[in-house]
Amino acid sequence: MTTPRILVTGGAGFIGSHYTRALLRHPAARVTVLDKLTYAGNRDNLRPVSGHRGFRFVRGDIRDVAVVDRLVAESDQIVHFAAESHVDRSIADGRGFTETNVLGTQILLGAARRHGVRRFVHISTDEVYGSIASGAAKETAPLRPSSPYAASKAASDLMALAYHRTYALDVRVTRCSNNYGTHQHPEKLIPRFVTNLLRGRTVPLFGDGGHVRDWLHVEDHVRGIELVRTQGAPGEIYNIGGGRPLTNKELTGRLLESCGYGWDMVDHARDREGHDRRYAVDDGKIRATLGYRTARDFTTALEETVRWYRDHPHWWKPLTEVGVR
Ligand code: NAD
Repeated sequence: MTTPRILVTGGAGFIGSHYTRALLRHPAARVTVLDKLTYAGNRDNLRPVSGHRGFRFVRGDIRDVAVVDRLVAESDQIVHFAAESHVDRSIADGRGFTETNVLGTQILLGAARRHGVRRFVHISTDEVYGSIASGAAKETAPLRPSSPYAASKAASDLMALAYHRTYALDVRVTRCSNNYGTHQHPEKLIPRFVTNLLRGRTVPLFGDGGHVRDWLHVEDHVRGIELVRTQGAPGEIYNIGGGRPLTNKELTGRLLESCGYGWDMVDHARDREGHDRRYAVDDGKIRATLGYRTARDFTTALEETVRWYRDHPHWWKPLTEVGVR
């Protein structure tokens, strides 16, 4: 069997770049990254694979029908990460979220159908389920997104599944919990807190800090996506969890400790509008059917993440100086 030509959208971002680097550990891999390089995309994330003979980078927009058409025609499979991904930005202005996440996804799906792409893995999120008071959401749970970001992801997730039902396109959807690890933009909670603390600045904790998030190391997530791409079934949805639920307050305590600070470095901020109290996914399906297991120990991996930010100020400092909140 020849190695599939894989188109990775959003491959210069946080998760997409981890995924691309993992794919290209295989000398025979053939990967094209399509990325617009918004404020969240960073070519530097792909430097380690720039010399791989099977790698190609194309700067472009998933809403650009001509570019998408050309690249999709040359691809066997698509793994779709590209998105506007920051909840706070979507609360400030949701338009770009609808345009990229919903319209951009539909443009990709349309091209995939026209060109007979054999597999389309759509990266969705646990935020589509909304706040879960107790228990954990299975893949069959209703979608109740709260933020404009989550609503745009729910729309794109359903659009992807519609292309499976209507056109029998081989679409597989993953819904993962909060990722953490190296190369994450400093606007997101963990890197934001760490980079603030590394500069001796305070960190903002929303509301009472009792919001619960399940933390998934990006490398475990990448392994889960690969299981879905290579062994999953068409039309199926797979939750991918980290098995590490923590309140934001508990997480803050750990980050303060890692950076050598106390609670006097915490500013209590007004809660975010529509802030979901708790996310929790039941990932029993991917465990039972594809043998998914998390491999990274949270304490060790969090320490490693903090160390990476400490050792790579040249990576994140420019990103904190462009008016990011
Ligand atoms: P990110 O913001 O770090 O990266 C997004 C990438 O997409 C960037 O490289 C950006 O340049 C690119 N992009 C944005 N708009 C584009 C467009 N119109 N055309 C082409 N490229 C464009 O995001 P991330 O955290 O790596 O998330 C990747 C995916 O995973 C997203 O779909 C997100 O919704 C989903 N997800 C993320 C998390 C998380 O914790 N980070 C959790 C659940 C789901």
